[in-house]
Amino acid sequence: MGDGSLTWLRDHNRHRVLEALRLQGRSSQADIARATGLSRTTISSLIAELKDAGLVSDVEATANHGRGGRPGVQLVLRDRSRVVVGIDFGHSHVGVAVADLNHNVLAEHLHEMDVNRHAGQALDAATRMFGEVIAEAHVDRAGVIGAGIGIPGPVDRAHGMAGSATILPGWVGLRIASEMEQRLSVPVQIENDANLGALAELTWGAGRDCSNFAYIKAATGIGAGIVVDGRLLRGATGTAGEIGHTTLDEAGALCYCGNRGCLETVAAGPAIVHLVGPVNGASLSLAQIVDHAVAGDPRCRRAVSDAGREIGVAVAGLCNLINPERVIVGGLLSRTGEVLLQPLRESIRRHAVQAAAESVEICAAVFVERAELLGSVALALLRDRVNHSSLASV
Ligand SMILES: [Zn+2]
Repeated sequence: MGDGSLTWLRDHNRHRVLEALRLQGRSSQADIARATGLSRTTISSLIAELKDAGLVSDVEATANHGRGGRPGVQLVLRDRSRVVVGIDFGHSHVGVAVADLNHNVLAEHLHEMDVNRHAGQALDAATRMFGEVIAEAHVDRAGVIGAGIGIPGPVDRAHGMAGSATILPGWVGLRIASEMEQRLSVPVQIENDANLGALAELTWGAGRDCSNFAYIKAATGIGAGIVVDGRLLRGATGTAGEIGHTTLDEAGALCYCGNRGCLETVAAGPAIVHLVGPVNGASLSLAQIVDHAVAGDPRCRRAVSDAGREIGVAVAGLCNLINPERVIVGGLLSRTGEVLLQPLRESIRRHAVQAAAESVEICAAVFVERAELLGSVALALLRDRVNHSSLASV
């Protein structure tokens, strides 16, 4: 091997160490060794070079970031000039956050509005808030290396638009990715809300040490983000994880998707609200039902736990198919903790094949309210890790 190849190899390995820091955020040398497969000796010498070049520095490990409870020194990138932006379009809000390459959120804004019906205004609001958060974080517009965008419905990644006319009617035909790319002048990626929840948990939450898991978002709708071998499973047209539209009862109630007896018709927010019915003449919102269930109200607890049991039937099928290490349950309903999880676990035990049911751990998500916003930040940070190369340009 000549000197040229050795230089190339060293440059290549330096690049891998920097990439590992960008993907993982602050890390120990051992974490970097695991992520890159390079020897500890090679990493020590590369880190020394990168420190001399001012690209990497030491920080004290904090309780939140120290893995395996070991205190000690960790490494961070010193590149403060480059950032990513996450944009979350919910049904009734727009959230925008900016984060540095060490995974620190520098600024975030939230704006309540009717996103479903006013797609154009939602894009305008996101564009304005993009300017606001980068100004607040004191970063240059030219330093934004990418943006991740979340929408609350299936995504047609080939065209960068909403993938279902029945789920997001106001967004039909709108090419969200190219529209936002033009407005922001940065590369943009788009993803659905359950996949973003999975990415947030994979990056910072309950899926951090796990490369095969299913994230279930149980809220107004029910969706799943499926991570296989550390990557999101998107399927042929991006609808992988639409677990809310699994048929549980062929003769059941008509679902807004056009089928009958879907999981959502018995366990999603509107079904729970309907089941609880009016209390003192007024209908409760899903958030109020969750609060009452947490406070011990028997009607609300029963409605949520019945939903947990039904969700478990569909998740049992998912466990049979993908044999996950963990099922991470997020969304508003997960705030009820064991009220939802205990019957969900019981259903999986009853309905999944024994080996899959025994090996899977069912736990609550770390992120509930900010899951999608943090997931959209993670989407921009992890773009190479979560994307298959043929889709990377979307
Ligand atoms: Zn349906």
